[in-house]
Amino acid sequence: MMATQTSQAQTADSTTEAAREIVSRDPATGEEVGRVPVRSPEEVERAVERARAAQKSWGALSFRERGGCVLRAREIVLREMEEIAELISIETGKPIAEAVSMEITPTLDLMQYFARRAARLLKPEKLDIGLYRLLGRSSRIVYRPLGVVGIISPWNFPWAIPLGEVVLALMAGNAVVLKPSELTPLVGLKIGGVFTRAGLPEGVLEIVTGDGSTGQSLTVAGVNKIMFTGSVATGRRVAEAAARTLTPVVLELGGKDPMIVFDDADINAAAGAAVWGAFANAGQACASVERCYVHERIATDFISRVVERAKALKQNVGTREGTDIGAMSSERQLRVVEEHVGDAVARGARVLAGGRRAEGFSEGGAFYEPTVLTGVDHTMTVMREETFGPVLPLMTFATEDEAVRLANDSPFGLTASVWTRDIRRGERVASQIEAGTVMVNEVLYTHGIAQTPWGGVKQSGIGRTHGRLGLLELVAPHHIHVNRLARLHDVWWFDYTPQAATLFRGLARRFATGSALQTMLLAPQMLRRFRSRK
Ligand code: NDP
Repeated sequence: MMATQTSQAQTADSTTEAAREIVSRDPATGEEVGRVPVRSPEEVERAVERARAAQKSWGALSFRERGGCVLRAREIVLREMEEIAELISIETGKPIAEAVSMEITPTLDLMQYFARRAARLLKPEKLDIGLYRLLGRSSRIVYRPLGVVGIISPWNFPWAIPLGEVVLALMAGNAVVLKPSELTPLVGLKIGGVFTRAGLPEGVLEIVTGDGSTGQSLTVAGVNKIMFTGSVATGRRVAEAAARTLTPVVLELGGKDPMIVFDDADINAAAGAAVWGAFANAGQACASVERCYVHERIATDFISRVVERAKALKQNVGTREGTDIGAMSSERQLRVVEEHVGDAVARGARVLAGGRRAEGFSEGGAFYEPTVLTGVDHTMTVMREETFGPVLPLMTFATEDEAVRLANDSPFGLTASVWTRDIRRGERVASQIEAGTVMVNEVLYTHGIAQTPWGGVKQSGIGRTHGRLGLLELVAPHHIHVNRLARLHDVWWFDYTPQAATLFRGLARRFATGSALQTMLLAPQMLRRFRSRK
């Protein structure tokens, strides 16, 4: 599959042909998949302007009308599932089966959920304003679109991550400018194409292809919010650039997610989960299991099951049927893995499976064997920094406290998982772990649940995507306050007579208690003040 693609921005800016191009390559073979232009800062600005112009009428549509468009896009995705899965596989290296299960299926669900539920999730809310109600006041919140949302997305889930955010932003009434990763621009353009064919008005979703410089241009192009998913280092740069214009940002950054396996866990299920959690997507998921702590009593049995399962994984080109683990998405990422494993081994770690580049593939193929390490500790890079590859380092622990301490000994806090048959213990431990999501007897997968919030603490980021919390990131809460007794001057207005000062002290002592009874005691003073005003 090879194509020269035109993005929506390119079509609109055909007079300013970008000189630079990105060549997208299949990481399993090194072969060219297609090429796209690198959008200049001016082209990005114009894309934002087009989006801003288009947002006005898009934002004025009803939820039903916007949802109709998302549901039509969903039908197209369903119809073209095989073609989309193949494109994802070719641009990222992941197995087609995984493109369907981890990217397409969750987004089909997310699309139907937000298309149907956004209206209810963003329903205007009446606020309880306590005793101010007695003064004839009422308050409500109406959720309004932000305007133009800039989405900057990574290459590891080039379909599910941006598409989910696009759907939430559109349902909230915003226009979007999406900058896909330079490693997966064709998947980004495919998202744009699906919505265009679904009848999304021109300009409401602009795709700007390019590299880091294009992303940087988007951060300063005047969008109303930036949804960024990527590494901590780039996230920091995005936040710094956005701070100059006080543009709000959501940052979905890296992880070093721990898995704790207690001695009462179902060992077989936990071993299966550890292997899937660490090696799905060749370990290139922000919520991959990157550290596993197993109770010393079951460690031998658990580790041997993990090793057996890891060795049984079928590694091959992602488009071949039966492939469990494909190529890594880039040679650059593979080198990070080599460095982390090399450092661990040099400092005494034992390699029980893998530990090297996989052989037998075409020369340009970025394949790394699923790797299991023991004898690791928290001084090693492989236990501290995000490896983002098919590596599962294991340590043992003796007590619950020790497990919690080890899990929390990390600058990251995206997800974590606790394995035990005792759900109360699971929840107790979960409540002590510093992470945005803690799963009991599950790993990795909650990004796939449209209803649950996704995001981290510590270096793993700021803000949330998905769920109602994610939708609320994409709207401006508009507070409307009404006074139905407008004829009366408020008691706290001028003039500040000695009687007024006494009343204010009374308000501090009684009204501010929140008690209607206490406030009633001030009624005579308040009436006198009302009467004394002109
Ligand atoms: P990067 O930070 O390298 O890139 C992320 C995006 O930012 C890409 O589109 C990139 O463009 C763009 N970009 C690069 N430089 C800039 C800049 N100066 N200003 C604005 N945008 C810029 O991350 P990766 O693509 O390598 O993704 C891997 C990282 O993403 C991992 O750390 C992973 O943990 C994290 N991640 C987090 C998730 C979460 O939900 N918390 C989910 C998935 C991944 P280009 O690629 O063209 O250079």
